[in-house]
Order: sequence, then structure tokens, then C-alpha cells
Amino acid sequence: MVQYAVSRIDSKYDTKKSTAIRPADWSILQVVQRLGTVPQHRLAEQIGRGRSTINGAVQRLVAAGWLARVGQEAGGRGRPAILLAVNRDAGCFAGVDIAGGEIHCALLAADGKLLDHVSTRVGRDRLPAVVVEQVDLTLRGVLSRAGAGPERLLGLWAGVAGAVDENGMVVSCASLRWRNVPLRDLLAERLGCDVLVQGGSTTMNAAAEALMGAGRDAESVLYYHAGRGIGARLVLAGRPLAGTTQRAGEFGHVVVEPGGARCACGNRGCLEAVASGPAIAAALARLPRRQLGDPLRQMLTQTGNRNPETLVRAAFKQRTARGNPLAELLARVTRHLAMGAAMAVAAYDPQVLVLGGYLFADNPPLRRGVQRALRSMVLDWDARRVSVVQAEVLTQDRAVGGAAEVCQRFWSNPRGVVTVQA
Ligand SMILES: [Zn+2]
Repeated sequence: MVQYAVSRIDSKYDTKKSTAIRPADWSILQVVQRLGTVPQHRLAEQIGRGRSTINGAVQRLVAAGWLARVGQEAGGRGRPAILLAVNRDAGCFAGVDIAGGEIHCALLAADGKLLDHVSTRVGRDRLPAVVVEQVDLTLRGVLSRAGAGPERLLGLWAGVAGAVDENGMVVSCASLRWRNVPLRDLLAERLGCDVLVQGGSTTMNAAAEALMGAGRDAESVLYYHAGRGIGARLVLAGRPLAGTTQRAGEFGHVVVEPGGARCACGNRGCLEAVASGPAIAAALARLPRRQLGDPLRQMLTQTGNRNPETLVRAAFKQRTARGNPLAELLARVTRHLAMGAAMAVAAYDPQVLVLGGYLFADNPPLRRGVQRALRSMVLDWDARRVSVVQAEVLTQDRAVGGAAEVCQRFWSNPRGVVTVQA
């Protein structure tokens, strides 16, 4: 039996409402949140406590603004039952995604419904204080449009395209030129709510796909990302599996070609060094031009390998004869990407495999090639019944996934309000 105990972990960032809730009342709130809308008399059956206890708790929760009476249930004998739901205005959850020179921001109501989302460009000055100020202003703008202020925030998820440690410190982020920036503390101090910071867009993509994208309705979703970097993330029952140091699923730096191309990490022949977007573009630029058809040859002449996304897509769309160096390169890349997916599938045994990142976007030949290769690389592939699907969530919508994730975490175990004791 799960018990709830009041605690004040992270008391520095305690939410304002936290002290007002009794643990027993909290369990009622959780049941209402899970069921959506529920007649008050049903709560007694659901929770296994007497009606008068429940009625007292409901009264307190309504008075504190957590629960709302949203209508009456007609039918049956006796008086109509009062319908209860989580008060949408009890607070809100935010997701912020700082990636690719942009800040994407999403806001959800306490009941998990989307209120708003916006995107802004990061200014020229990328000093931590400046970017944090910009995140703060963007968030306050979204909050104010929803008629709220930062005091209403119950939790915030911030995602950064870089390496982040378990304390929410951004160890390194190339696009922002950051090193050792305590992003969680900086945001928590300004906004006064629980802040969760995770690195790399893979986690946020994975959470978003599992909550609202190609993996919705599935218990275990493996998101496999191939673009500038390569990596995978498992989302199990709505929770991304981060690992002890938040590096679970970082397959990009597994060596697949010993002694192969040099990787940014210092090693040679990493998966990322041979099959990421920039790696494929660099290999394409080294091929003899006369053996490449147009428009690939034209693209390479005009822009070199500076735009890997379009270049790689054009290469996969080009028809080539077997034995042609381009065909060989693409077959090798497909095999390597399939190896990454095969390792991830073998490790996590998922229901759904979501192929995301720009290499897989609008690139049916690569997706088909990887799927075909998986059949021969993964033991019992057919018996596993993994459904392989294309990612659906757009970059600007990823922050919604982050907000939904923090919303779900709050309702399952709201830090600062109560902790679950097994
Ligand atoms: Zn590497």
C-alpha cells in the first residue's frame, strides 16, 4: 500500500500551495486528476473511506482552489450528484526548449490542457544571464496572456541541446557556447517553482512523441534520433528513462567502424562519425563528382557540404546502379543506422520504434532500408511485433511534450508537496 507523507524536499523552491494540502486530501486530488471528471459520491468507493471524511476533504480542496465543482450528474434516484474536476486555474506547467537558436515555450493548465505556445529567436548575445532573462520574459508573456503570473507555475521543464548533469547544470552546450551553467538554479530562483533541466533534444522529442505523437497510446516507446547527432531514448509508461547520468540511449558514440573517421568526442569510427547528417554530407563531398547525377552534383558545387539536411535527402532520392560509389555509401550508412536501432531495440524491447531527426524526415528510402535491415539484425524481429513509425511532433511543439511531462510528474509525485513512501 502506498502511503503519502508530507515533506519539504527542495524547500528552497517550494510551491506556494504546497503547505496547504494534507496528504490524505492529496490522494483524493490525484484520483480526480486521473479520472478527469468524477461524481463526488464515487470518490468514497474509489478511495475506500467514509463519505463524511471525503466530503470534508473535498470542501477543503475546493476552498483552497485545487478542486472545482463543474456541474451535476442527472439521472438515478435522489439528489443529482455533484461533478468534481481539478480546477484548471489551480496552477500551470511550462515547457521550455532552447535549441537551434530558438526558444520554444509551452504552457499547460493544471488539468494538462494546452493553454498556449510560442517561439522566439535567441538574441545575438548568448551569455547565460541574457538567455535566462529572455526565457523568463517569454514565459511571463505566455503566462500573462493566460491571465496568470509566475507564482502560478507548479513546475517547469527546460530542455537544452547539450550535456546536462543530474543537478540541472549545463555542462556544455555548443550552440549557446555554454560551459557549467547552473540553469536549473538560475530558472528556479527567478520563477520560484520546481525546475527540471534535461540535456539534448532527444529526451524532449521522446517525451513528446510518447505523449502526443507517433507513440501515443503505447506503453513503451523507443525514440531513435538521427540528425546532427544519433541517439535513442525509451519512454516507459510516459516516463523517459534517463539513466544515472542522463546518458541512457546515447548510442552515437559506440564505435561501429574501429579506426574509422575521427569523431568530435576524440574517438574513431563512432556511429555518429560515420552516419550522422554532417558525416554523410562530408562523405558525399569526397565522392567523385562525375559519378553523381544532378541535382546532387549541382548542390555540392554550389554549397559544398554545408547543408547536410537537404544534401543527404537528395542523395537518398537519387537512383543509382549497384556498385556505384554513391550506392555503396548509402548502403553502408543505412546499415550503420540500422545497427544503432538494432542495439536500442535489443536493449529496450519496445512496442513502438519512432524514427525521428532530419535524416529520417521526408526520406522513405532510408526508413525502408533501416526497417529491412532490422529484420536481419534483431533476434526474433517478427515475433517482437515492434511497430516502426515516423516521428510526428514538430520541433516547435516539443516544448508541449516537456510541459506535459512535468505535469505528469507533478501529479504522480509532486516534489515539495508530498513524497511517495513505498
Ligand atoms: Zn564519438
